[in-house]
Amino acid sequence: MVKKRAAAPRAGAGTLLALIRSGQASTRADLVRLSGFARSTVAQRLDALLRAGLIVPAGDGGSTGGRPPETFVFNRYAGVLLGADIGGSHTRVAVTDLGGHVLAETEADLDVADGPDAVLGWVTDAFGRLLERVGRAPADVHGIGVGVPGPVDTATGLLVSPPIMPDWDGVSVPERLSRALSPGVPKDVPVVVDRDVNIMALGEQKAGGHDHPDMVVVKIGIGIGAGLIVGGRVYRGAQGAAGDLGHLRRGTDEPCRCGNRGCLEATAGGWAIRRRLLERGYDVRTSQDIARLARRGDHETVRLVRQAGRLIGEALADVVGLFNPSHIVVGGNLAEAREPLLAGIREVVYERAQVLASRDLQIVPSTLGHRAGTIGAALLVHEHLYDPDRINAALG
Ligand SMILES: [Zn+2]
Repeated sequence: MVKKRAAAPRAGAGTLLALIRSGQASTRADLVRLSGFARSTVAQRLDALLRAGLIVPAGDGGSTGGRPPETFVFNRYAGVLLGADIGGSHTRVAVTDLGGHVLAETEADLDVADGPDAVLGWVTDAFGRLLERVGRAPADVHGIGVGVPGPVDTATGLLVSPPIMPDWDGVSVPERLSRALSPGVPKDVPVVVDRDVNIMALGEQKAGGHDHPDMVVVKIGIGIGAGLIVGGRVYRGAQGAAGDLGHLRRGTDEPCRCGNRGCLEATAGGWAIRRRLLERGYDVRTSQDIARLARRGDHETVRLVRQAGRLIGEALADVVGLFNPSHIVVGGNLAEAREPLLAGIREVVYERAQVLASRDLQIVPSTLGHRAGTIGAALLVHEHLYDPDRINAALG
């Protein structure tokens, strides 16, 4: 969706905005020093950013008519972003400020197999309710980020042969959402879509304190997936299908919900654990139910979760051998079972991964927990809106 310009970096406003947004710079002197632009250029670009409402003088010292204020901050309150994290069995949505800080959020158990009309219908209704709750008008929405549990062509927002959601094949999430959004949301508002594990990885990287250039963020819930951060950026692969950890073949004969046999998910996913617990007479529906039982110390659940952790660890050991990440961040609803899952993963990864690749490897729980996806979705559209090239093109 973001057009990359071939030209060399320009002395543009977008470059300065990026320095202000990241907190690296707040004064003219910082901006001159860090950008290398001439003082007069910085002054001109700052004026353009102020006029566009993208930055404001810090402390609002400008209204007294005195000296020009010295410090500037990103104008995060000029509007709101909407983020949706559509999972296999659970969907969460949030309204955030323009910097991705959550203002209000809500969630529901929704089966993605119910199809795009049911799921996106709930999402748009929930967006409307949340906007009301925070006292914002639909016209205040600057962008919408959406994560979906399947491969996405990020250029078009089109889902591509998602294994567990056949009704979504070829569905354009931006088109459907734009059509269903409440009247008043500007028609040209960008809707950016990515795989659920990628938005989670972005959330953990930008807002969860896991800012490592090479890491794997694993999402373990009813299904299993992985977001890969390579060289500081989300790695999506040629068709947006990278990180499909749950459907790697692991040599068993168990039928998988994707129609194949022997996938990791078929033995280690939340849905596989749920099936086993149901056979034993437990009353469980969601991966949160399973995590709750494990946290309560239910012996059978702890055993199944730890075993799932080991199986996921085997697959991750292969990933570590191929890709040598510095960190593996473990998230998703089932990760709220905490210790048995992490212990199972650690046990096998450290045993199986090659010594060099695992020597300094850290396997840590998610910092943002269940919010990683919605925050990541908001940050996805934030990055799109304030992409330096885009701002440079708009403001010079
Ligand atoms: Zn499968």
